[in-house]
Amino acid sequence: MNEHHFDAAVAAARSSYQGGGLPIGSALARGGRLLASAHNERVQQGDPTAHAEIACLRQAGRQSSYADTVLYTTLAPCAMCTGAILQFKIPTVVIGEAETFEGDLARLRQAGVEVTVLDNRECIELMGRFIGEQPQLWAEDIGE
Ligand SMILES: [Zn+2]
Repeated sequence: MNEHHFDAAVAAARSSYQGGGLPIGSALARGGRLLASAHNERVQQGDPTAHAEIACLRQAGRQSSYADTVLYTTLAPCAMCTGAILQFKIPTVVIGEAETFEGDLARLRQAGVEVTVLDNRECIELMGRFIGEQPQLWAEDIGE
């Protein structure tokens, strides 16, 4: 867990919110190096699969291995993003919060992924504010 890398994910979430999108950010790091950070771009790009984690993996480009990477995300990953984490065998995931959306952390843990949930107040507040303001946009994001 690297505070600066997590902060990059939170900054991306904030920036997305300010741009009218979903306030969810993600960052991918290897060792002390930040490979990429990105935010959910579903509204901005009109792309239903552009969740923060997927946008971040795209931004980082091809990696020959994810064995030594850490994925940071401000919100518990959905089923699609959980699938991507398992697909690329990302061993460590640090999550800002799992209160506004609980995801399926059991699935990640069962697959041997090290999952840390920070219960970060800013992430909870930002997501809570967004869901209150744009309930339909949020429902669309999680396929409900
Ligand atoms: Zn997702």
